[in-house]
Amino acid sequence: MDNMEEGKEKALKIYFIPYLAPGHMIPLCDIATLFASRRQHVTIITTPSNAQILRKSIPLKQNLRLHTVPFPSQEVGLPDGVESLSSATNPVNLGKIYQATTLLRPPMQQFVEENPPDCIVADFLFPWVDELANKLQIPRLAFNGFSLFAICAIESVKANSLYESSSYVIAGLPHSISMNATPPKIMSEMLEALLETVFKSNGLIVNNFVELDGEEYIKHYEKTTCHKAWHIGPASLIRRTVQEKSERGEQSVVNMHECLSWLDSKQVNSVLYICFGSLCHFEDKQLYEISCAIEASGYEFVWVVPEKRGKEDESEEEKEKWLPKGFEERMIRKKKGLIIRGWAPQVMILNHAAVGAFLTHCGWNSTVEAVSAGVPMITWPVHGEQFYNEKLITQVQGIGVEVGAGEWSMMGFGEREKTVSRESIEKAVRRLMDGGDQAEKIRRSALEFGNKAKQAVQEGGSSHINLTVLIDELIRLRDRK
Ligand code: UDP
Repeated sequence: MDNMEEGKEKALKIYFIPYLAPGHMIPLCDIATLFASRRQHVTIITTPSNAQILRKSIPLKQNLRLHTVPFPSQEVGLPDGVESLSSATNPVNLGKIYQATTLLRPPMQQFVEENPPDCIVADFLFPWVDELANKLQIPRLAFNGFSLFAICAIESVKANSLYESSSYVIAGLPHSISMNATPPKIMSEMLEALLETVFKSNGLIVNNFVELDGEEYIKHYEKTTCHKAWHIGPASLIRRTVQEKSERGEQSVVNMHECLSWLDSKQVNSVLYICFGSLCHFEDKQLYEISCAIEASGYEFVWVVPEKRGKEDESEEEKEKWLPKGFEERMIRKKKGLIIRGWAPQVMILNHAAVGAFLTHCGWNSTVEAVSAGVPMITWPVHGEQFYNEKLITQVQGIGVEVGAGEWSMMGFGEREKTVSRESIEKAVRRLMDGGDQAEKIRRSALEFGNKAKQAVQEGGSSHINLTVLIDELIRLRDRK
């Protein structure tokens, strides 16, 4: 029986513990909202300043609540209110925030032990939840915000020790995937260790739909890891109205209506949207290459530049380090482009008909949000598992073109050896935006995937069914006790 019809008395008590970074927090809180929309009793455990953001961005109600634990700012030497990896602009602060998240265990554990739930869904960056769930003898579901394709690739690279070469083919996957960059060894080892804890959980929640990862990768995952993955996304599709889309994540620095009216004034598929997620910060010389490329391409654009947060009044001298002289006069004042300095309402923008392509760092959320909106991508991976996502987009599903990034960084900021040239960027933009047979084929495929994503979350769709089966399974586990 579908849980929509389940009586209130049978509701599950589920705790969600999202990690403190937008790319983890936003999708897992949308997933928590999804469980609550199926009448389960959900509590999200987080810290005060993250709770403040969530109060404005998710529909809290009786069966969707927050529980806060203090963030150890003083213990690690951080200013008050800095409680997310996205607030870090240098490795020292990043390290402090990471360290602080490891100190959250005692207060979170105490709350969970004193008020035990039927199930915990926790980010894999809190691996201690494994021990806690075992102690309480309750099921634990893992989440890491990755595509299943990326996890299969990580496992395959590990099995075949492919770290040393810069160009290689990942063996053992359903497709032969050609790579042009090598993951930093420390990062791969860290991910592999964290995945080991994932495989010990009762299942992995994936913010994706079966059709995009592909049945063959799901079978491959289950066969090689003996672990169950639950595709119940795209989570962002729980946000139906323009307002709900614009309120996702942090407070946007642009007025929703102004942004919409700017986009409304543009032709269908004419605007290039550029955003590198919440953790990537490029140096000025890279931003300069991007600005030259977009101007040379002639296309209209929306460009999110978190590097320049709060710096609207920067001096001309400062500005000319990352924008060619007169750029703002030619582009911004003449309404050819919009620069958003800080948090942008990404899902709202991607869903506007004027947006014709997305220049993206291939963070999984950005990827699946673009897919859900039917927007083709120009891929520019930077760190994490983004290089694998790029290959799913370009080589497997054919819904994007590559910019040609070949440097796999340890994190989103810091100096890079290579700069992606304005010529490569312009060329990739033109490959999609100029039209032609290849571009049209990619655009059609992107649109088809957009329709499949929407079908997946509707009643009778793959993700909708998976969530029903998952809830039934959790109820069975609870009632068996
Ligand atoms: N995001 C946003 N506005 C911004 C930057 C990011 O709404 O200005 C959201 C984006 O829609 C996505 C998340 O932040 O949901 C970023 O996650 P992703 O996995 O794409 O990248 P990460 O930030 O983890 O590198």
